[in-house]
Amino acid sequence: MRLLNEFRFIRPETTAQAVTALAGSTDTRVLCGGTDLLPNLRRGLVSPGALVDVSRLESLQQISWEDDRLTLGAAITLEELANEPRLNRHFPALVKAILSVAGPSHRAAASLGGNLCQDTRCIFYNQSDWWRRSNDYCLKFRGKLCHVMPKGDRCYATYHGDIAPVLMALGAQIDIIGPGGSRRLPLDGLYQENGSHHLSLEPGELVSTIILPRDVQWHSGYEKVRVRDAIDFPLAGVAAALRREGDTLAQLRLVVTGTNSIPIRVDLSQLEGGPWSDEAAEEMAKAIRKAVNVLKTTVTGPKYRRRVVMAMAKRLVSQLWQQAA
Ligand SMILES: Cc1cc2nc3c(=O)[nH]c(=O)nc-3n(C[C@H](O)[C@H](O)[C@H](O)COP(=O)(O)OP(=O)(O)OC[C@H]3O[C@@H](n4cnc5c(N)ncnc54)[C@H](O)[C@@H]3O)c2cc1C
Repeated sequence: MRLLNEFRFIRPETTAQAVTALAGSTDTRVLCGGTDLLPNLRRGLVSPGALVDVSRLESLQQISWEDDRLTLGAAITLEELANEPRLNRHFPALVKAILSVAGPSHRAAASLGGNLCQDTRCIFYNQSDWWRRSNDYCLKFRGKLCHVMPKGDRCYATYHGDIAPVLMALGAQIDIIGPGGSRRLPLDGLYQENGSHHLSLEPGELVSTIILPRDVQWHSGYEKVRVRDAIDFPLAGVAAALRREGDTLAQLRLVVTGTNSIPIRVDLSQLEGGPWSDEAAEEMAKAIRKAVNVLKTTVTGPKYRRRVVMAMAKRLVSQLWQQAA
């Protein structure tokens, strides 16, 4: 069976041309660094009629520092971001997450926008064609059944991106451009809890910029656990940002990756206004357990991943609490 279909390769010179090319047909896909899309293409998981390469668009390469915000173009590579000294100074948690993505050669090509928009993953999906065929495929691709949740009504493939949780904890927004113009929304709004349709992008749309508020009162961090430390997706990752006022936890944001079809934000507003304590940590763990939906989508068991998330979150928030003193 032929897995790699013929497709057209389009390299637009402006974002307007890119949008026109994307809007022209529903089977046209954005290509940036290709580190996520090309392996899927070669495995026959996607068969687009055309690829629109946005990696060289100048407007998607800009970095702009203003007093109250940092604006990043979606096509900037992770390597470039990690080497930006001011980013390390002002957003160390973001740089930590960036440096934990894959390996150095991936990061030289991989883009920020591609990282946010990367596909969801599952042991029944990221396999060779003959393996998937022998299982009658799965709900995410060509099949009728989700093998992870056979009685479920949707695909449960998991989002494993490292960068989105940190950006969400920092309160990032994104600009999306498309045939209808441009719109700005909180990064949370990019994601929807369905493993086969986890992005809210409309046909012809692409992420153009990421906007980060610059607020020195927040302390943030990222922790990730993976099977192979040198290069691997997170089997679970936790990003946190907090504001401390004296002995009071004024605000706490926590976002988990590697458990749901989206980077999942855990509501911890009940802890705000009190001190950070062992009791607060237990209450946070309970809220995490309730929010995350860890299933058998990776080789590492759900029970272990759930416990890892809760342990990482407790450790990370305790560290940030100390740091903020
Ligand atoms: C061995 C290996 C290990 C990896 N480890 C990690 C890891 O540890 N952590 C992690 O987060 N990722 C990991 N990845 C996934 C991937 O390398 C990164 O997520 C990378 O940042 C993707 O960026 P890219 O530019 O290469 O995206 P591409 O492959 O070009 O695109 C990825 C997806 O996003 C879409 N897309 C790209 N740009 C845009 C845009 N501007 N607007 C809308 N849609 C867009 C594409 O259509 C495609 O569907 C790994 C990949 C491999 C192969």
